[in-house]
Amino acid sequence: MYWNKEAETMPREKLESVQLLRLQETVKRAYQNVAFYRDALDRRGIKPDDIRSLSDVSQLPFTTKQDFRDTYPFGLVAVPMNRVVRIHASSGTTGKPVTAYYTQKDLDVWAELMARVMTAGELRKGDIIQNAYGYGLFTGGLGAHDGAQLVGAAVVPSSVGNSRRQILLIQDLGVTALACTPSYALIIGETGRELGTDLAKTSKLRVGFFGAEPCSEPMRKEIEDCLGLKALDIYGLTEILGPGVAHECMNQRGLHLAEDNFLVEVIDPETGRSLPPGQKGELVLTTLNKEAMPVLRYRTRDIVSLYPDTCPCGRTFVRMTKITGRTDDMLIVRGVNVFPSQIEDALLRVDGLEPHYQIVVDRDSHLDELEVWVEVSEDIFTDEIAPLETLELKVRKELESVLGIWTRVRLVEPGTLERSEGKAKRVIDRRDLGKR
Ligand SMILES: [Zn+2]
Repeated sequence: MYWNKEAETMPREKLESVQLLRLQETVKRAYQNVAFYRDALDRRGIKPDDIRSLSDVSQLPFTTKQDFRDTYPFGLVAVPMNRVVRIHASSGTTGKPVTAYYTQKDLDVWAELMARVMTAGELRKGDIIQNAYGYGLFTGGLGAHDGAQLVGAAVVPSSVGNSRRQILLIQDLGVTALACTPSYALIIGETGRELGTDLAKTSKLRVGFFGAEPCSEPMRKEIEDCLGLKALDIYGLTEILGPGVAHECMNQRGLHLAEDNFLVEVIDPETGRSLPPGQKGELVLTTLNKEAMPVLRYRTRDIVSLYPDTCPCGRTFVRMTKITGRTDDMLIVRGVNVFPSQIEDALLRVDGLEPHYQIVVDRDSHLDELEVWVEVSEDIFTDEIAPLETLELKVRKELESVLGIWTRVRLVEPGTLERSEGKAKRVIDRRDLGKR
């Protein structure tokens, strides 16, 4: 099922000619209207007319999150402000937020991209979708809302939080689809179980659109089991658009990138050089169809690889792997690169654990210490010490085989670790505290 069959199944050759035209147009508009890009291109001695093929994109400068901060608030806006009809902002955990600007056409394109996402999950008129992404400055809430509404589904704008009421609405309204972060989906499922409500059995939930944070395969399975739905991974980011940049189809094998709207590169994060398909690297995106805030070669810091083969669903857009880590989530522990997602994968392979964990990195004299706190299942946490010790050993072995470094494990009672209703805070790095 497609929302825009012509776009989503466009032959590669035609797609590339659309991309080139849009790239040239984007570079021209960025050069003319955004001093930041004009200066950056001038410094490289590049004029918009020098972009003659898609591979010429490599001549363009990168844009980083720091550039968004340095040009805050209006430095990357390419239209007169009276054409802007909406402004979103990312949660700035440190320093200034990232602001994103949309003309009416940008909002229309965004809604269409989200409509494609939801149609890929077979959402249609007659469905009731509960949107438990946070409404507000965060792009998740309104982004999912507009897409679902365009498809013709009935939207329940529940926003995030108040899990008991979420469950009540899911049941009483006969909700068929859910949109939220994967960690919040688990909280809803878990709360249901605590209340004695098995949503997998008692609800009409059929499909879920989960994004804004990484979701590993075992975590997906957990969500599907406790909610009784097909969990589709969706991807987006405020700097580029919001949700709708990439999404899974029902095959759940990689996320199709909306290539008619974004030019995709995967680079070596160290050298900045392009990598061939199949190789793991940092995802870099150039907007091809944005008016208010065109962005050239945005370094997403997300680590992915591209699938070289085509998808049986018929979409011609390239697929990327699920996000397995972020360049800035990467911890370096005793000289070894550690991604929190690797730890999560390892934990979810061991029976008797809950998908709630925290990673604590500390420095004992001069040596980094990695400690993983993880909740055990209710039925395993007993006063008998022996089974716990066996479990702890299992977890340690699993972690060591994945990470290649010695790890401490602390098993804790169910419900002990802090729950988050937005993005889960998984890592506590105590090594930096002195510097802040
Ligand atoms: Zn597909």
